[in-house]
Amino acid sequence: MATGTASPPVRVPVEEIAAYAVEVDRAARFPRESIDALRFAGLLGLGVPESYGGPGGGPAEVARAIEEVAAACASTGMVYTMHLVAAQTLLAGTNGDGVKAETLRAIAAGEHLSTLAYSESGSRSHFWAQVSRAAPANGGVRIDADKSWITSASAADSYIAATGAAGSDDPIETELYLIDAGADGIEVVEPFDGLGMRGNDSSPVRFRGVLAPEERRLGEPRSGFALMMSATLPWFVLGSAACCLGVAGAALVLATDHVSGVRFAHLGTTLAELPTVRARLAEAELRYLQARAYLYTVAEQIAAGAPEAKVGVLALKAVAAEAAIDVTDAAMRVCGGAAYSRHLPLERLFRDARAATVMAPTTDVLLDLLGKSMTGQELF
Ligand SMILES: Cc1cc2nc3c(=O)[nH]c(=O)nc-3n(C[C@H](O)[C@H](O)[C@H](O)COP(=O)(O)OP(=O)(O)OC[C@H]3O[C@@H](n4cnc5c(N)ncnc54)[C@H](O)[C@@H]3O)c2cc1C
Repeated sequence: MATGTASPPVRVPVEEIAAYAVEVDRAARFPRESIDALRFAGLLGLGVPESYGGPGGGPAEVARAIEEVAAACASTGMVYTMHLVAAQTLLAGTNGDGVKAETLRAIAAGEHLSTLAYSESGSRSHFWAQVSRAAPANGGVRIDADKSWITSASAADSYIAATGAAGSDDPIETELYLIDAGADGIEVVEPFDGLGMRGNDSSPVRFRGVLAPEERRLGEPRSGFALMMSATLPWFVLGSAACCLGVAGAALVLATDHVSGVRFAHLGTTLAELPTVRARLAEAELRYLQARAYLYTVAEQIAAGAPEAKVGVLALKAVAAEAAIDVTDAAMRVCGGAAYSRHLPLERLFRDARAATVMAPTTDVLLDLLGKSMTGQELF
């Protein structure tokens, strides 16, 4: 897989992003200011190689940047993850010129936001299977599809959209196309109203008669599944895990500060002086440290193309997603009613942390795939 070339010094504008996090969550609105801050910091092109005008950067740099963004605002973290994963998928499906290369150059210049349009209402969380079917049209294809969730649906400039290959009835014989979000036939059906990541704009989108000339197809005919597995999945797993650990890390900092600061006036002690509180915090720290160490282990495996990356790609997202749930749960408990109310921003992190387990591939699907891999069974 392409992993970029240079290792740029990455400075994430965390203060600018954090400044909008509460309002983005309350209003369930797209974090436009935060995405602009990433654009001005030159980070929308992270991972895009210098040959396309990008700063380069491999899996570890991408994961670190996403972690910091998500710690400041999880909705922005999700939008940023989907954009960077779309860019890597486009990179893998490009032969160096035409509209796909132009789009990569625009991404590198910070002028273009992209995302993934894989999930369909028919195949639900089985993103690798498409119930929509392309039809040949004007030397390319016509796409009719009901996409169930597209992060940044209303704000993105393009979607990397999956659809079943024309002439096949196999749900995993698919193709990926670079589609302009403003193309004729595309309609964002309704705004996203979710428990967490409330600003990520993961809305259902209807494709009706959307035309895609051949030059917009990523890779060879019927290569959609292979590209999803070789390009999208590794980068998505890294990004999703980094989001989870950014959220978990932020929750730990908040909880530690709170329990160290507040006092029982009648006892003259802090919450942190309670052994149960300390033990719960310490257990949460262990979960966090283990998952975070694994994130950067898998990032290295992916960058090196190591054989262990096969297990890492199946395991990492589940490890990080479940750790984020446990850590934010512990943080809520030790902070008591102050966390249950909005006195502390912890309840937002608790809600945000729940997204990854239900995002495809879900934790339960990953357990099934990993179990199949361990026992020598076909994964799909
Ligand atoms: C915040 C957010 C952002 C998203 N952004 C995007 C995006 O940008 N692009 C995109 O394409 N999609 C996106 N999605 C969609 C996502 O990837 C899933 O498709 C979606 O969450 C699935 O929801 P569902 O109700 O259809 O799940 P269902 O498929 O109905 O799953 C319900 C339950 O069944 C379990 N299950 C299903 N199949 C199996 C199996 N084989 N083995 C064991 N258990 C199984 C699941 O684990 C889950 O617990 C996003 C989702 C979220 C929450």
